[in-house]
Amino acid sequence: MERVYRGIGASPGIGIGRVLIYREPELAGWSETIEDTERELERYRAAVREFSARAEERAEGFELAVGAQQAEILRSQAAMSLDPVLAERIEKKIILGKPAEAALDDECRRFIESFAASSEEVLRLRAADVRDLRDGLLRILLGLPETDLSHLPPSTVLIADDLSLAAVSSLDPANVVGIVLSHSGQVSHCAILARALEIPAVVGTPGVFEALSGGEVAVVDGTKGEVHLGLSPNKLVGWGRNREQFRLLRDSLREFIGKETHTAEGVPLCLEANIGSENDVLRAQEYGIDGVGLFRTEFMFQSRDYFPTEEEQFQVYQRIALALQGRPLTLRTLDAGGDKLLPYLHHPQEENPELGCRGIRLCLREERMFRTQLRAILRASAFGNVRMMLPLITSVDELRHVRALVAQCREELAREGLPCGRDLPLGVMIETPAAVVMARLLAREADFFSIGTNDLTQYVMAADRKNTQVAGYYSHYDPAVVRSVEQIAQAAREGGIPVAVCGEAAADPLYLPLLLSFGVRELSVLPAALLPTRKAVSRWSLEEAHAVAARALELETENQVRAWLEENKRL
Ligand code: PEP
Ligand code: MG
Repeated sequence: MERVYRGIGASPGIGIGRVLIYREPELAGWSETIEDTERELERYRAAVREFSARAEERAEGFELAVGAQQAEILRSQAAMSLDPVLAERIEKKIILGKPAEAALDDECRRFIESFAASSEEVLRLRAADVRDLRDGLLRILLGLPETDLSHLPPSTVLIADDLSLAAVSSLDPANVVGIVLSHSGQVSHCAILARALEIPAVVGTPGVFEALSGGEVAVVDGTKGEVHLGLSPNKLVGWGRNREQFRLLRDSLREFIGKETHTAEGVPLCLEANIGSENDVLRAQEYGIDGVGLFRTEFMFQSRDYFPTEEEQFQVYQRIALALQGRPLTLRTLDAGGDKLLPYLHHPQEENPELGCRGIRLCLREERMFRTQLRAILRASAFGNVRMMLPLITSVDELRHVRALVAQCREELAREGLPCGRDLPLGVMIETPAAVVMARLLAREADFFSIGTNDLTQYVMAADRKNTQVAGYYSHYDPAVVRSVEQIAQAAREGGIPVAVCGEAAADPLYLPLLLSFGVRELSVLPAALLPTRKAVSRWSLEEAHAVAARALELETENQVRAWLEENKRL
């Protein structure tokens, strides 16, 4: 009999295969007493070292195969295992006579229970991360092998309650055609990795795990978030066709590989990549790019436990600049603070970190650290078409301050005989309401603008971009955001400087007519969005885009704008 289980579509596509139920082994059975405290402490520390090394190794493998931003998830797990506060709490318990397993379990359980009870999804997801960490460490302490799902049979539909990061990162997409999890959410780390591996996935599907015994034929529709079982042969043939259509659509994008990006009537656009590492550039280059519109340098700072030296930074920037062979490399200076804390930097406790010392503010506070980055960027500019871009600018003063620092660093380098490029365009990200209001004045002094629609939406709408409670307010379709984007583009035009968009809106096909009509000719998107964006641009003429945008600007509510753009969507 046909049955459908509904959950959340977490990774698009259709997978048809045989169910394999995966259960994590029971992690229990440790002794309740210890004989030697010192030995027990060392046993725990050795397990942490091993866990962190394994996570780093997995991250490296994943970075090569998939990309830096996803690998960062695995690295953050390694960083969490080394957290000094957690270590201190666990070690205290061991000193009081608990075995390492029990101390670890007790401490993690406290975090898991309090995070899991939270009304905020972000915190609930943290519970899964801590559970993952605890289970990984317990496995090592109990001498159990690491989870390895790399050799599952072909056409496997993997069903589990939840999967650890170690388990997902070990999957071979050649064998696993679908993933179904009873727990987990759309923005869970597991879902992000499944998307990166292009394995269709449905999560948050209660009951499915208990209802199956394995071996059944299942269809996973990761686009709609459905799992179909007990299908007749006819229906299965239909699903096979749907799967083909999806693949065709994916394949149809392949015709845009390496092509120029232009509108229907041939107006060229500069399509660039948002990257987090050197490997991202390699992936992006496979699709063809006109440059890098945003290098989020903070990934490099977050993945170390010390501040990267000038030489280390220089070498990375130089290699990417050279790889781009004269195409622009837009280096965003360190955008840390807020929720991106650096383990080796003292970040004061802040009540509202997103409104606190982040982005350019942190760099101007930590001037020595900032100068190191400026020097590295200036040196790299001798090897390619390097541009520098400042995050979270709110005033002309900040821009002037940075210009003065750049000039000083340039002089220093000249005295030291280290070459710099003659020209280093200095641009600002427009992502705060202050920058929108000041855009005309900023355009007189900046060499270019890049609109960070992610933060712009957050700050214009006063809605934390990670807080699901206010997700309804966080929308770049809101007329307040649309008008802000239009004003920024106009200020850039009047000031005679280029304006790019590097936030998520750049990759939103619904938003495209607005950006084209406002005069944006430079889009920077994640590598996975390059081909869909190139295809979407080819569907619009400027005249058609102007007509859609003119009407959108007259609309008064978010709903109306979204509906109007939906109505005119071209995929
Ligand atoms: C943005 O805010 O739109 C942006 C591109 O930067 P990030 O997402 O890194 O804050
Ligand atoms: Mg931003």
